[in-house]
Amino acid sequence: MIPFTYERAADARSAAAAVAAHPGATFIAGGTNLLDLMKLGIERPAHLVDVSRLPLASIDDTPAGGLRIGAQVRNADLAADMRVRRHYPVLAQALLAGASAQLRNKASTGGNLLQRTRCYYFYDPSMPCNKRQPGSGCAALGGFNRIHAVLGASESCIATHSSDMAVAMRALDASVETMAPDGTERAIPVADLHRLPGDTPHLETTLRRGEMITAVVLPPPPPGRQLYRKVRDRASYAFALVSVATIVDAPGGRVRSARIALGGVAPKPWRVPKAERVLAGEAPGAAAFAGAAEAAMSGARGHGSNDFKIELARRTIRRVLADATDIA
Ligand code: SF4
Repeated sequence: MIPFTYERAADARSAAAAVAAHPGATFIAGGTNLLDLMKLGIERPAHLVDVSRLPLASIDDTPAGGLRIGAQVRNADLAADMRVRRHYPVLAQALLAGASAQLRNKASTGGNLLQRTRCYYFYDPSMPCNKRQPGSGCAALGGFNRIHAVLGASESCIATHSSDMAVAMRALDASVETMAPDGTERAIPVADLHRLPGDTPHLETTLRRGEMITAVVLPPPPPGRQLYRKVRDRASYAFALVSVATIVDAPGGRVRSARIALGGVAPKPWRVPKAERVLAGEAPGAAAFAGAAEAAMSGARGHGSNDFKIELARRTIRRVLADATDIA
């Protein structure tokens, strides 16, 4: 047992200030990832600031026509919200593809975005891992890396980001709202929230010390059909080998706009604008979908056990685009 202290935050600003004031402090909300990491000794916070009971659990309409989702909205509640189901089905589908019903009942919106990788070596303190211990090496590079990244990785780390929800939010151009210890608030596009590993894989987000996510804002629902498809080793309670969130607007036999974001293949939710541009103006069909899939995976690099992901991602993209446009 590694001792730590605990406090329950009274409001967002004092929570942020408490984490900033205590060396080794961290936030805890649902705890669905953090507690596992603490039990394994991977995370060793000296102080926990509990934000789970802050009044950040509502989903509100925004004046712009979107939704503002409090950071403490549980994943299950977000997936069940009728506005989400009707207008952001890609988000509801992604949420329901994640974890288990029990975990979704507990996991928070903010915590889901900040979950750590599921790289096996990260969870094994006997193995070198630059993310857990900077400068120690990366056991996955020469090891068993079936679940690892083929895009956006570095020579220091090839871990993937594990969230399904974040992939849908990336496709929806969501942004997070944050509170800093001094009370300053700012908005960060989800696109800019997670860092690529480079040579500092232990730095995973652009949040500053003590800065807390208070909400996620969705812009008005984009036109077109939304779909989330997750390919995994078993039908539930498994992380994505490849996932695809897509939103395709194709009235009158031409693609007016398309969005594609990938999960399970990169260190962050991975939007592929090159593939989106390939589709724009094209007639939906096998040739256009194949071109988009090729563009999406251009530059992908396998590391041995995960080479299969490149072709799996191409096929999944083609299939999801076909389903989104009713092409058999
Ligand atoms: Fe650690 Fe990243 Fe290498 Fe996994 S892939 S062992 S998380 S450095």
